[in-house]
Amino acid sequence: MKILTVVGARPQFIKAAVVSRELRKQHQEILVHTGQHFDYNMSEQFFEELEIPKPNYNLGISGGSHAQMTGKMMMALEAPMLETHPDVVLLYGDTNSTLAAALTAAKLHLPICHVEAGARTHSRTNPEELNRICTDHVSSLLLASTESGMKCMEQEGLARRARFVGDPMFDAFTAYSRKRAPGEVVLTGLTGEGCALPQEFYYLTCHREENTSDDRDLLEILTAMEQLDAPTVYPVHPRNKARAKRLQEKYGLSRILFTEPVGYLDSICLVNHAKKIVTDSGGLQREAFFAGKKCVTILDFVCWPETMIENRNELARPKQNEILEKLNHPQTVDAGYLPFGDGQAAAKIVSAIEALQECGA
Ligand code: UDP
Repeated sequence: MKILTVVGARPQFIKAAVVSRELRKQHQEILVHTGQHFDYNMSEQFFEELEIPKPNYNLGISGGSHAQMTGKMMMALEAPMLETHPDVVLLYGDTNSTLAAALTAAKLHLPICHVEAGARTHSRTNPEELNRICTDHVSSLLLASTESGMKCMEQEGLARRARFVGDPMFDAFTAYSRKRAPGEVVLTGLTGEGCALPQEFYYLTCHREENTSDDRDLLEILTAMEQLDAPTVYPVHPRNKARAKRLQEKYGLSRILFTEPVGYLDSICLVNHAKKIVTDSGGLQREAFFAGKKCVTILDFVCWPETMIENRNELARPKQNEILEKLNHPQTVDAGYLPFGDGQAAAKIVSAIEALQECGA
């Protein structure tokens, strides 16, 4: 089979790494990078570390409003899809690259397989929610990471096209977790200086539109971290760098290590060795759960309900007292509770795509 995969953002490179490896054992893959994430440490570093094959096409599209980015990507994606005549277009997650590829492929009558289908926040103001809903409704094969995703698709009348395969992020976490030791983590500060990883630390990521569109919310979050009993490592997303740097300069915030984004191997090493995690990232919430680490999520909606049991992951508003209070709630970890599959999602994704072809979709 010929499969055209579209990626564009950091979490998609991680999922594609494990799935592409499995896919290429039997099939031809054409890899298209939209260019949504383009800095070395948000893109190329992932390709190098995770040995993802070089993209066949790089469309170089990033920035602008949601409509501008999605529209430009749609126009640019048509040519590779028409040139290569794929049997299936394979998409991951919930970014503008996912939505653009889904709409373009659907208009060309190409079957679409969506990995991470059915995940819902039930918040229509969350931009990724719209991308997920639209992509699911034009896809031929909907592959869910969790049973709650399956249930959401059933409620939307999508059950016939849906399968539970597990989460390729769990496959990646399992495969790569032991590849880096804390002593090997390389942190670079926002002005280029090297920083050593503290013995004990908290791990913070925060970059969503909801938390970083003004100073107030981000400052509340940083002020909470500043009061903890160990320093915080905060790799800053490029979207948020200017604001974070300004707040650091203005308020000191000496217990927070503001760093450039780290690579995936460093990131999961930080997850595995952090005291606790504070984040607004969908990926990091799951990784905290995989590692059995307490997580506080700064969002007003649940992304992954399976992680929210026994205080393992709790929502907090961007208010320092609320964050500190939730961080202090003790959690209980049941190591036998594995709602994200068995670490074999990539193989199941490939089998599901093969079955789709066999039934002539
Ligand atoms: N991540 C990384 N470097 C960082 C911060 C995060 O490699 O500096 C990883 C993290 O471990 C997770 C993924 O990036 O695997 C999450 O991506 P992101 O937060 O950008 O997207 P989301 O999960 O919210 O869609």
